[in-house]
Amino acid sequence: MNCSEIRKYIYPFLDGELDSQPSQMVKEHILICPLCKLEFEQEKKVDSLIKNNIPMENASYEVKEEILKRIGGVEKKRTGLFVLPVLRPALIGISIAVLTFIFFSSLNKPFPVYSEAIREHIQFLQGKISPDFSSIKPLEVHNWLLHKLDFKVMTPDLSSQGVELKGASLCSLKDKTTAYMMYNKGGHDLSVFMFDAKELKFPRAKNITVNSKVFHLYKEKGYNSVLWVDEGIACVFVSDLNEAELIHLASL
Ligand SMILES: [Zn+2]
Repeated sequence: MNCSEIRKYIYPFLDGELDSQPSQMVKEHILICPLCKLEFEQEKKVDSLIKNNIPMENASYEVKEEILKRIGGVEKKRTGLFVLPVLRPALIGISIAVLTFIFFSSLNKPFPVYSEAIREHIQFLQGKISPDFSSIKPLEVHNWLLHKLDFKVMTPDLSSQGVELKGASLCSLKDKTTAYMMYNKGGHDLSVFMFDAKELKFPRAKNITVNSKVFHLYKEKGYNSVLWVDEGIACVFVSDLNEAELIHLASL
């Protein structure tokens, strides 16, 4: 089974609904695949919080957000049917805890570089930024950028993953000239930023190691960002694609 097949089995696996053979396959796969393991652990946390109605204080932001999303789904599914009377106050309690958390976390100062990248991405989505150079060919975009930057960037060719290049612009992240490449995957916009990471310290964030590269993960306003540094160049991917998919694209 490949990763996307394994992921379809994660819910049934956690609910103990799988036969021994597929269940074994899931177990073996998450031992060797960090991306599916990440997804699995996330689901497991959400699952146990929901099932055991554990206080939310220690849950990560992503887990809280996922719970809120699922509560929405559960409530919708139940409309017109019935709502377990015992469950409802618990769900409302969790919702209030989540909303309180989101409110207070918005008062905290976010990590600048990730936030700046996400802000650029949103401006692009709103049509406030458009490519200064449009092309679907990585080589053409690469050549256009080459003459505008004093550091070397690679324009990733993600076409084998169904990700289409749209073009590029220049922007500024952390007051550094940044190459901004725009892509789209099946209607989901993907922003790719590259800038010189010399003498730049990155704030702590959740991270994951895939193929011996360390990826920093950060989520804000519903968008995922993945940052890593390769040969002195920082690269940031931002999209509403899920975390695992984004890391998969970033790790190619
Ligand atoms: Zn996998």
